[in-house]
This record gives sequence, structure tokens and C-alpha cells, in this order.
Amino acid sequence: MGKRRKLLITAGPTHEPIDAVRYVANRSSGRLGTSLASAAHDAGWDVTLLLGPVTLPAPAGVHIAPFESTADLATLLEEHFPHCDVLIMAAAVADYRPRSVDAGKLPRTGDSLTIDMEATPDLVAACAAHKREHQRLIGFALEEPASLPARARAKLQRKGLDAIIANPLATMGSDDIEAVLLTADGRQIRPPASHGAALDKPAFARWLIRWIDAEL
Ligand code: C5P
Repeated sequence: MGKRRKLLITAGPTHEPIDAVRYVANRSSGRLGTSLASAAHDAGWDVTLLLGPVTLPAPAGVHIAPFESTADLATLLEEHFPHCDVLIMAAAVADYRPRSVDAGKLPRTGDSLTIDMEATPDLVAACAAHKREHQRLIGFALEEPASLPARARAKLQRKGLDAIIANPLATMGSDDIEAVLLTADGRQIRPPASHGAALDKPAFARWLIRWIDAEL
């Protein structure tokens, strides 16, 4: 048997602080990311899971490093990415964050509040820019069904990924996932059982890990 492949995987939302009490976030349960971490562990991979603020129990047998914000996750990726063979970026990273964070609790002062937001750095694109030849990067795209394939392919190219899992908004919070896998070399692959019926997330995770093992 060859060396165990090292998987680095991120899951869950980021929480971007407004002040000591409040934050902005995406809705993300972390269920798909933790299913992928478990499936890879069961397949014999050495798995490190960077896990955001979720209510799910952490999967057994994998190394866990917790994060809250995009800034925390960026620091963890800098530390862990150089040592992995495959990065699966399943975390729902916020696209914008408050430009400044109040150290205390902002008082309620009037009828409205305007928060100045800045774009977060694209973390997976930064990893792709530094990747070594043997490393593979897989991202996710969650979009409205009508614009899904085109937007997912554009993201795959813009971020420098090897593959992207394109899934419709309905995946969010659901037990199932109806996804299409797009690859940098132009392939479009549907998991076998998803014709007609959506796979549950653990079944999809097992299929995707097998696919990565065989094809990437
Ligand atoms: O651009 P969008 O957020 O839809 O891209 C989704 C993919 O990019 C996911 O794999 C997500 O984890 C990653 N991402 C990132 N850094 C960001 C935003 C998204 O790595 N700031």
C-alpha cells in the first residue's frame, strides 16, 4: 500500500464579528463537510478538519482545529495547507465582513444602523496560487439552479481549482444533496444514484471521496 493521502477539509460557516456580541454569517450546518471528513477517514485517509462554529458533533478519528472568522481560517490554512495532498474547501466563508470591529457592545442609538463591509480574501484562491504540483483543490459553489453550471464553472477557473461541486440552494440545511461535479479539464459528472433521487450527504460524501481517490 502507498502512503496515506493527507486530506485537509474545511466545514461550517465563518462568523464575522461586528462587536463583542454580534456577528454576520452564512447559513451552513457543516453536515456535508463533516460527512466528507468521516468518509475520507473511513477510506483510510489522514484527515485534518478545520471546523467552524457548528452544533454538530465533530467526527471521530480526525484531527480537528476550530475557527470562528475568515481571519482565523486564513491563519489555519497557512499552517496546514502546505502539508496536505488534497484540500476540500467546504466551509461557507462569508464574502464580506465588517471593516472594523468594536471591542465592546455597540449601543442601540437610532432607527437604523449602517455597517461598512469589506470583501474577505478568497482563501481557496490564495491556496491555489501557492499549490505544489501534487496538490489538488476542490471547492463548492452554491447557486440558484438556473445560473448554477455557468457560475460554478467560472468559479472553478477564477479560483484555480481542480474540481468544483455545484449544488443548488436547496442543499443548504437539507439531508440530501443534488450536486454536479465539474472538473478543470471540462468534465461534468453526476453521482450515479442522483438521477431522479438525491443522495443523502453521507452517501454523496462516500462517492466523492472514492472519485477523488481514483481521478485526482
Ligand atoms: O465565491 P463563493 O463564495 O461562491 O465560492 C465558493 C467556494 O470558495 C467555496 O469552496 C468556499 O469555501 C470558497 N471561498 C473561499 N474564500 C472566500 C469565499 C469563498 O475560499 N472568501
